[in-house]
Amino acid sequence: MKRRNFFILFLFVATTVFSQQYFDTVQLRKSVEFMSADDKMGRLPGTDGSNAVAEYILAEFNNAGLNPLCNGGYQYFSYIKGWKNSDSCAALLDGKKLVPYSDFAPVNFFHTRSASLSADVVFIGNAQDVDWEKCKGKWVMMKDDEKASYKSLSHKAINQGVGGLILIDTSNTPEYEYSNVLGISVKKSTTLGPVIKISATMADSLLAKKNLSLSQVLTEANKKYCIPLGVEFKASTSFEPNEITAKNVVAVLEGSDPELRNEYIVVGGHYDHVGFTEKISNKTGKMRTYIYNGADDNASGTTAVVELAKKFATQPQRPKRSIVFVAFDAEEEGLIGSAKFFNECLPFETSQVKAMVNLDMVGRYNESKGVKIIGSNTSKEGKRLIESIASNYDLKINIPTKSLFFASSDHANFYKYGIPVFFFNTDTHKDYHRVSDEVQKIDFVNMQKIISIAYDLTDNLANRKKNLRFQKIY
Ligand SMILES: [Zn+2]
Repeated sequence: MKRRNFFILFLFVATTVFSQQYFDTVQLRKSVEFMSADDKMGRLPGTDGSNAVAEYILAEFNNAGLNPLCNGGYQYFSYIKGWKNSDSCAALLDGKKLVPYSDFAPVNFFHTRSASLSADVVFIGNAQDVDWEKCKGKWVMMKDDEKASYKSLSHKAINQGVGGLILIDTSNTPEYEYSNVLGISVKKSTTLGPVIKISATMADSLLAKKNLSLSQVLTEANKKYCIPLGVEFKASTSFEPNEITAKNVVAVLEGSDPELRNEYIVVGGHYDHVGFTEKISNKTGKMRTYIYNGADDNASGTTAVVELAKKFATQPQRPKRSIVFVAFDAEEEGLIGSAKFFNECLPFETSQVKAMVNLDMVGRYNESKGVKIIGSNTSKEGKRLIESIASNYDLKINIPTKSLFFASSDHANFYKYGIPVFFFNTDTHKDYHRVSDEVQKIDFVNMQKIISIAYDLTDNLANRKKNLRFQKIY
């Protein structure tokens, strides 16, 4: 009995180990390390770091012998991300010209294209009790800080009908760092003019007209200032939409069947992430760059797409249907890359795509949660198919019928065309969209198994007799 048990155990171990080593964990690690290294600066669309990753993906596709699509493998698109200053901002103090980005800088408070105002300046410091009648139509000068009190004060000022805002930047950083003040609700009738920031030195020279200094004012935090400075301040600001050029990386492995090669399976994952921020470190008090390396989100899924492409391309027998491999850009900006995917640069239309496999965050397998394969119920056969494939692997599979995450990644832009989708995901975690989403936390052993399941699935989709039958789930 014992011996027999041992033999069965040996068989079990042998099949589980040998049937799923499709991918080399050393290579997976190398790829995720490369994509999530600091020099990629969080892979923000249109940046050098993002370009380096796109180049890597394309080189891997080309080396594997895939045919690049669109523009030599790059599918370019553009989108608008916020606003940027146009060159035409100007300010005059008592007729004297001020230097932009030194004496003052424009702030795009409400995404207004352009505004200008010529009026006296009323200094209100950071008072909570202001005679707003004195401020109507005037420039209101106040301290700028991150605190809620400032936000509520500027909010109040705007709703009280001030002409424009002059925010004093007390941090005196050489390069002004402006964030738009978001989340402020204003009256519909509000017509705020320009908003600018000025340096502390500039503020001092204005306050000197009333024998005040900024340092004095700041130490008298609770004093209720509301002083017309009796100056003629004129400024105009202008902004234009900030257009970003991004690119998906796309290549195809042509199918071997003369008929079925005109049908396509898309395997995709986004390679972009959320970039970096610069802020003052709590520890050192100095300006520091914080890079969001996005090892799990989504260097893991991008690596999966690249390695799947290589694996399929090196098989002796090509799949019957064509497989398109795509690394999407600008997913983090609102699934933009996948929304721009179907266009005339592709040799096929939506109706020719028979299924889509999306890999987004597949590196943090957690025993208790399992690997989610969301959307398996977007076809009549999907759930069963996944269950039978996954039964060869010692991984817990989680097939949610309804998921809050359904609309949160690129497959959603395929589902809307009636294409069955499979979204592989090892769920969110405490490092999600944080600087701590690092390569050291990736579980490559289980990631390898997840990519193997995706391989078996794609292989089935590309070679099966009948295509999956789509079913609507929302
Ligand atoms: Zn993601």
